[in-house]
Amino acid sequence: MNEVMRWHHEALAKRTVEALKKNHFDAVYFQGAREAAEFVMGFVKEGASVGFGGSMTITDMGMQEKVKAKGGVVLDHNAPGLSDEERAVIRRKQLLCDVFLTGTNAVTIDGCLLNVDGAGNRVAAMTFGPGKVIVVAGTNKIRKNLDEALERVRHYAAPLNNKRLAKTNPCTVTGTCMDCQADTRICNIYTTMKRKPSVTDMTVVLVGEALGY
Ligand code: SF4
Repeated sequence: MNEVMRWHHEALAKRTVEALKKNHFDAVYFQGAREAAEFVMGFVKEGASVGFGGSMTITDMGMQEKVKAKGGVVLDHNAPGLSDEERAVIRRKQLLCDVFLTGTNAVTIDGCLLNVDGAGNRVAAMTFGPGKVIVVAGTNKIRKNLDEALERVRHYAAPLNNKRLAKTNPCTVTGTCMDCQADTRICNIYTTMKRKPSVTDMTVVLVGEALGY
């Protein structure tokens, strides 16, 4: 990233952090993913159960490996070789884990989080249950307002996530959301956090680089 782009990402991120704080979220900015990962690991104690919501941002930061190296217990319903029943058990355990790590599909400059989910376990765990929720987002997820955030989710993030998950939904042909009726649709629950959930300990970590979709 060149200096001008870095300045722009940082300027937007700092405004967004201030707006998130006004909306009662704990929020912090790091220029790079390495510093952000170190910060996140400060919340993971040896033996802690750590839920993973299925975020490419969190995967790209190597958080599962870091948690395992520290002696934490990884709860990942997307781990290879799991049966549907085993996935369901892990999803339930994530709701009561010590630390839940997730990305967000979009964050607005006025301090709101927008997400879309298929089963709902990710947005449920983000909202209530875990001892600590940490949301990590690259500055590529920042949008001006909720309308633009929804546009980002429907016409960018969701089609790319469909492709990543090898779904055959219409957006994997057109590249944009077709508001499909498919049984395999991954966009069933849309959530907007306009303020921090009242009894959830949540930190939003913004990172000054592009992470995830
Ligand atoms: S609603 Fe259907 S077409 Fe639209 S992004 Fe989701 S899965 Fe794709």
